[in-house]
Amino acid sequence: MSVQVVEHPLVHDALVTLRDAQTPPELFRRMAVRISLLLAAEATRDLPASPVTVQTPLGAAQGRRVSADVVVVPVLRAGLGMLDAILELIPAARVGHIGLQRDESTAIASQYYSKLPKGLGNSVVLMIDPMLATGGSAVAALDHLSQAGARDIRMICIVAAPEGVELVQKHHPGVRIYVPAIDRHLNEHKYIVPGLGDFGDRLYGTL
Ligand code: URA
Repeated sequence: MSVQVVEHPLVHDALVTLRDAQTPPELFRRMAVRISLLLAAEATRDLPASPVTVQTPLGAAQGRRVSADVVVVPVLRAGLGMLDAILELIPAARVGHIGLQRDESTAIASQYYSKLPKGLGNSVVLMIDPMLATGGSAVAALDHLSQAGARDIRMICIVAAPEGVELVQKHHPGVRIYVPAIDRHLNEHKYIVPGLGDFGDRLYGTL
């Protein structure tokens, strides 16, 4: 299955606060951090790990350390609201950035910035973009990551529209999407309904 709908109750508790139009930016940011941590834990369940032995105060203990090179790629600007949470979870992760701007009248995305770490072919790439709406910008970002050599790409979103999921699946069937909610549809301005509004504006108070 290329879409994993995350059902964890704590994820949904945070999501409903994000959706609430009364939630102020400060609380919105806190909930964005909380939900991103939980979603990232889900998306990294199968990360490769190597056995290690450490000495506890009482003796030797076997354990495992993550051995994968993880690269986190926020899609600017809304994806930045999820980045710190994921770095808290995976401090050694490398970070790439992709800047895509959506033309408000046509909803078509164009790339204005890209800086990616090298050697993506051997990395687990976590692309973070909270709202998977038309899928246009997600496909553009995924095309770019694939061209840069990424092979294991996982996309972490907070709300998706069926149209966006379908487009990503069509163009990038190998990409796994982790998302707690696939909403009803897009409105005439290509916003997700019921969604949560403009994620970036609510995060940064630029409404
Ligand atoms: N981007 C958002 O921030 N919200 C939407 O509903 C769609 C795209």
